[in-house]
Amino acid sequence: MRKPSLWAIPLGGLGEFGMNMLVLRCGEDIIVIDAGMMFPEAELLGVDIVIPDITYLKQNRDKVRAIVLTHGHEDHIGALPYILRDLNVPIYGTGFALALVRKRLKEHGLLDSADLREVQPGGRSQIGCFGVEYIYVTHSTIDCVALAIRTPAGVVIHTGDYKMDPTPIDGRPFDLHTFAAYGKEGVLALFSDSTNVERPGYTPSERAVWTRLEELCRAAPRKVLISCFASSIPRIQQVVDIAAAVGRKIGFVGRSMVDNVEIAHGMGLMRIPDGMVIRSQDLRSFDPKKTVVLVSGSQAEPMSSLSRIAVDNHRLLSVDAEDTGILSAGIIPGNEKSIFRMLDHMFRRRALVYYDNAGGTLHVSGHASQEEQKLMLNLVRPKYFVPLHGEYRQLFRHAALAQQVGTVSGEILLIEDGQSIEFTEEGAFRREQVAAGRVCVDSGSLEEIEEVVIRDRKHLSEDGIVVPIIAIDKHTGRMESRPEVVTRGFLASDDGTEVLEGARAVILKTIEQSNAEEKSDWGVIKEKIRVDLKRYLNKQTSKRPLILPVILEV
Ligand SMILES: [Zn+2]
Ligand SMILES: [Zn+2]
Repeated sequence: MRKPSLWAIPLGGLGEFGMNMLVLRCGEDIIVIDAGMMFPEAELLGVDIVIPDITYLKQNRDKVRAIVLTHGHEDHIGALPYILRDLNVPIYGTGFALALVRKRLKEHGLLDSADLREVQPGGRSQIGCFGVEYIYVTHSTIDCVALAIRTPAGVVIHTGDYKMDPTPIDGRPFDLHTFAAYGKEGVLALFSDSTNVERPGYTPSERAVWTRLEELCRAAPRKVLISCFASSIPRIQQVVDIAAAVGRKIGFVGRSMVDNVEIAHGMGLMRIPDGMVIRSQDLRSFDPKKTVVLVSGSQAEPMSSLSRIAVDNHRLLSVDAEDTGILSAGIIPGNEKSIFRMLDHMFRRRALVYYDNAGGTLHVSGHASQEEQKLMLNLVRPKYFVPLHGEYRQLFRHAALAQQVGTVSGEILLIEDGQSIEFTEEGAFRREQVAAGRVCVDSGSLEEIEEVVIRDRKHLSEDGIVVPIIAIDKHTGRMESRPEVVTRGFLASDDGTEVLEGARAVILKTIEQSNAEEKSDWGVIKEKIRVDLKRYLNKQTSKRPLILPVILEV
C-alpha cells in the first residue's frame, strides 16, 4: 500500500530572524510547531510586534489539532495570544515554556479558555496521526526540546533552537543518544537551526562566562549591574552563584526579570540561597560594595529598566560613578545604535562599562555553530534536509554545509516562508506557494493590553497617520518652538482642531516630565511621546493611528 504523503509548510522563520512557525500536514491532521513573534524592523516604526500570517491555518481550521512548542523564547511563543483568538487549539510544551505562555495569555485575558498540555523531555504525545517525542536539547534558556515526529510518511526531526553544551549549568545533558537512535532507524526529514552557521567551530558552553563575570564582580569597587535576557535562566543562575561566591547579595530589577526568576525558582529550576535576595525597595540603601543587580533590558528597549536606569529615570536604582555595568547578552542586529547610546549614558556617569568579549567572555550564544550543525547532520542522516531559523544567507550556508557533510541521502531543500513541500514515496516536491508574510500588531503599552488590536496595512490606512514634530535644542534640551502635529487620513480638519490642540498639550507635558538625559536621547523621548499620544488619541477618537514622532535637532 502507498504511504500517505506528508506536507511541510513554513509560515515563519525561514528567511527572517524571528516569528518561527512550521506547519506539518498529513491527511486530515495538521500540527503547528511554534508560534513566534518578531520585533519590527526600523521601517515599521510605530508597530509593536510582527507575527506570521496564518491565513493557511484559518483556511484549514478543521484540521489543526495542536500547536507544539520547542521552548519558551518569544520568537517561538510570542504570537500565541494573537493566534489563539482565531484558532483555539491545544498547546503542548514543557513546564517552563508553558509557564511563560501562561503569563502571556493571562495578560491578554486568554488563559481561562486556553488548553495547555504539559510534556516532559523524553515523553511522547499522540496528536492526530502524529506521534511526537520530545528530545532534550541545550540552549540559552531552560526546558528546551527538539521534536521527533512519527508520521505515516516517516519520521521528521525538528531541532528547535539548540547548541550542544557538554557542561550545562543545570547538569542536564543534550540528548545525543536519541538523535542517534532515530538516525539509525531512518529519518525522512530534518529541519534544523541555522542561526550560527556563519561561526566555525563549537559554541562555547554556557559555563564559559563564569571566569570573567566573577573577576569583574570581585574587583568591582561599588555595585554591579548585569543585564542579560530575562529568559536566560542558566546565565541568571550563574550570576546568583557568582554573587554568593564573592560575598555579595543579589537584586532583580525589571518586570520580565523578576517574573521569570520567580517562575523558574517556583518550579525548582533555579537555586537561590536563603537570605541572598535584596528586596527591591532596599536596593538604593543597600551597601553598594555588597550589591549585584540583574536588570532586564539588555537590548535597550526604550521603556526597559536598563534604558531608564541609564538616564537616571528609575524608581529603584541609579547608576553612579564607579559602579560596574555589564552587558551579558548578544546584540541583536538592528539594536546596535540604541544599545550603544544607552551604554554611552552609563559611561557619562563614569560607570565602568563592559559589553563585549574583548577582555574575557561575557556572553556566549545559545545556538549551534558549524561543528555542532555537522554533528547533527551526522547523527540524524536524514533523507531530506531543510534549514530553518535564519535569514536567507544563513539558510543558504546551512544547505551548503549539509552538502559538504554529505549525509543527506535525498535532497537538500532551500526554501522560504510559504513554500509548501510534499514528501511522497517518489520524492520531495515543491508545491504551491501558500499565503505567508508578516502581520503587524499594535499591542498597546502594558497598561492598555486589553485593547489589543491586530492591524494589517489596510486597517492602518483606515485610522491614518499622526506625525508629531518636535524641535529640541540638543545642548540645552529645551524645546525651541511649540510642537507641530501633522496628520493624514486621521480626522477631518473641522472636528480635528481641538483634538490636535490637546495632542500638543500631551507632547508638551511628556517633554516637561522628562529629564535632561532623556531629552537628549531621541529613542527614549520618541517612545514616550508615542505611548502617551497613543493613549490620548485612542481615548479622544477611539482610533489607533500610526504615530511616528519626528525630532528636529536645532
Ligand atoms: Zn531560542
Ligand atoms: Zn529562536
